[in-house]
Amino acid sequence: MKELKADLLIIGAGPGGMAAAIYARRSGLDFLIAEKNMAGGQIINTDYIENYPGFGEGLSGFELAQKLSEHCRKFEIDIMEYFDISKTEETEYNDGKKSYRFKSTGSGSIIYSRALIIATGARPDRLNVKGEAGLIGKGISFCATCDGALYRGKEVAVVGGGDTAVEEALFLSNLVDRVYLVHRRDELRACDMLQCRARDNKKIEFLWSSVVEEFTGDGKLEAVIVRNKNDGSKRKIEVAAVFEYVGWEPNSDMVRHLVNTDQKGFIITDATMKTSHEAVFAVGDVRNTPFRQVITAVSDGAVAAMYADKYFLEQD
Ligand code: NAP
Repeated sequence: MKELKADLLIIGAGPGGMAAAIYARRSGLDFLIAEKNMAGGQIINTDYIENYPGFGEGLSGFELAQKLSEHCRKFEIDIMEYFDISKTEETEYNDGKKSYRFKSTGSGSIIYSRALIIATGARPDRLNVKGEAGLIGKGISFCATCDGALYRGKEVAVVGGGDTAVEEALFLSNLVDRVYLVHRRDELRACDMLQCRARDNKKIEFLWSSVVEEFTGDGKLEAVIVRNKNDGSKRKIEVAAVFEYVGWEPNSDMVRHLVNTDQKGFIITDATMKTSHEAVFAVGDVRNTPFRQVITAVSDGAVAAMYADKYFLEQD
């Protein structure tokens, strides 16, 4: 096993992790940053971002991810990509120069660190209804940017009423003939601007107060059965694809034994991004936050890095 050591280990290189790295570099911290996939996080799969200040003309999530990566490179931050940290535990390890509190393992390496910033983000929630498990990747998708083009000229459904569902329904409407937007209430959660665009879009048909009961199809998705919650009526909609946007699951498994989380596993922090463990910080979508935006993740990252610096100053 390869052994690495740093004062600070940042786990995850989405916007929150990369912002933390940039601030850690400016503070002169000794740190490493590891990312399970390529740097960028969830925004890589986001078609269009128009609310990140300074980029009023809008840009794709992939472009923003590249800009953040370039910023890191400019600051000589070497993001360890495709480095999957599967386990983090407390340890008492002294190499003769320093004492380390955490041992993180993954991708054939052990990383010893004195503090952690968890920036591992979240993954899409599932509906967990009949027929879903066997049809994921065979018509059921969680990424319109990745899979939308496969359904050009066809009819598809989107489930959910938040910003993501509406944004992705709008994106899909440029490719497909019809988008059924299935939402469990009679009012969207998405911001006003997106709601207006969706309501004005002739290709989007809303199925209000409706829940998905079942997916059907033999080897590939053929239809979705939707129940109206008000009158109990059921409707079978023949669609080539269903895109689910019904919330998120936190990627916090590797640290749940170290820090307090809410019921779903989102990590609880204070305003300094500190968790219930004095040397563990959490930022972005993995933490228990009401707003999951690129800008809030970036802000969390900056705050966490500055408080991590403060933590080291108090220790030394
Ligand atoms: P979200 O805001 O949590 O919305 C999830 C949607 O799924 C809600 O409408 C919810 O219904 C519905 N839902 C949840 N569980 C369901 C179930 N079991 N069956 C059917 N429907 C279910 O998630 P999100 O839209 O992914 O947004 C997450 C965060 O990212 C938010 O903070 C959002 O503002 C942010 N975001 C921002 C942008 C942007 O600024 N451009 C873009 C994307 C996301 P209810 O409404 O009834 O609860």
